[in-house]
Amino acid sequence: MYESTRGNYPEQTGKEAIALGMVPVGGLFVPKHYPKINWEDIRGITYPQLAQLIFQSYLPDFTKEKCIEASEIYNKNVFDSDNPAPLVNVGKMGILELWHGPTAAFKDMALQVLPHLLGESMKVLTQTDRVLILVATSGDTGKAALEGFKNVKGTEIIVFYPESGVSTVQERQMTTTDGVNTRVVPVMGNFDQCQSAVKEIFANSKLRETFNQRGIAFSSANSINWGRLLPQIVYYFWAYLQAVESQSLRPGEKMNVVVPTGNFGNILAAYYARMMGLPINKLICASNENNVLTDFFVEGIYNRNRSFYVTSSPSMDILISSNFERFLYEMSGKRPDKINNWYKQLQERGEFKVDSDTLAMAREAVVAGWASEAEVQMVIKAVYQEYSYVLDPHTAVAVKVYDDYTKKTGDKTFTIIASTASPFKFAKTVLEGIDASAVSGDEWINLKKLSEITGWAIPQGLQGLEDKQTFGLSHVRPKEISELIRKVYIS
Ligand SMILES: *Cc1c(COP(=O)(O)O)cnc(C)c1O
Repeated sequence: MYESTRGNYPEQTGKEAIALGMVPVGGLFVPKHYPKINWEDIRGITYPQLAQLIFQSYLPDFTKEKCIEASEIYNKNVFDSDNPAPLVNVGKMGILELWHGPTAAFKDMALQVLPHLLGESMKVLTQTDRVLILVATSGDTGKAALEGFKNVKGTEIIVFYPESGVSTVQERQMTTTDGVNTRVVPVMGNFDQCQSAVKEIFANSKLRETFNQRGIAFSSANSINWGRLLPQIVYYFWAYLQAVESQSLRPGEKMNVVVPTGNFGNILAAYYARMMGLPINKLICASNENNVLTDFFVEGIYNRNRSFYVTSSPSMDILISSNFERFLYEMSGKRPDKINNWYKQLQERGEFKVDSDTLAMAREAVVAGWASEAEVQMVIKAVYQEYSYVLDPHTAVAVKVYDDYTKKTGDKTFTIIASTASPFKFAKTVLEGIDASAVSGDEWINLKKLSEITGWAIPQGLQGLEDKQTFGLSHVRPKEISELIRKVYIS
């Protein structure tokens, strides 16, 4: 069963939590219990089998057949290799490549599954027969969600992205989507403003009622939806199994995990894996110059009143990190009263301070650090020169933070880095690190150059984007989003 972080809603089944997306009156659904999985029992298992096992353990209200169906997407027709999440040794690090899906970012690992989970979950909502998926994206969720839900019967999907806050490739990936049920809208604002506007729609009971009367339910493909987080737990177990298999780890030995973080979803999935019994030592939260989380772990103050930077790792340009609420819920000892109080302060004053017990728990669970833009460039260059391995800017943030961590602590624990995107999504930045003289003003030339220089193939989903027809709608202000969806879907 699933409960609200704010203690303001009855417990829900897995299907209900997924169908609703977030708690309709504010707050996020969290599992009441964490099933245990002993890694020794799952040695030799395939990725789809592992996914099925984990889905089933959290979703007892789904049939076994449904869980099998959902996990069978991890095959070669969808992902570009037999292993959907290979662990590649680069120096002493294990790079967990999570970008072999159709849109070349880790979001595919969950968003290819979500339509299966959501399709089944929607059946519990009796008064509606269509679902409108509202998505705010910092760049990668948008395309991954569009691909996942494209032409899926009974669903409409609309994606909002910050008009100057995504990479050229990310934008073109989204606007070239040609589904009958897909819409893409640039927003005059940053990601936080997009996300807040979308969350307000969820919390707007009048608007929800209007849509429900027309047979349309709202749901979310953002990581506020439990159905997004669940599939992300799987690959941390998978990473561990691979590390033992390749003898990077002795059986039972703990590993560190470094996650380049924005909305705190990916690292939260790693935290859940640890709660389930996976041998994880340190969880390391890596931020870019939008380092609101790094600061939190110093003093226990979450303060979003600060400059917002547009960086080379746009998917982490976030100051209001949604899933941090789920993390704090656990760290506070599951205290909705505290969560309500903190999030009210965040809303009203843009900051809050947690008590010393909660901070101590949080610091025990997670280590945090950040990397500057100049450091990202240096890391991309250094790793390429030393290992001929090409990092995308998000993964480079993680590698830099890991470097700092080992220098400071001397910790020799084998460490996996969650690699969240293909370098080709950010070709210009990566080229600047590898060979600045090759950089062109035309991003599509940069992709080809990057491929020529490194010998790496351009991922299929990024090929030929420059020539495809675009379908984006015209831009809106954050305030106009609710009016727009009213116009588009109930006119
Ligand atoms: C979404 C994204 C992140 C951040 O993940 P969160 O789950 O939001 O913390 C990091 N890197 C890339 C490439 C992403 O697309």
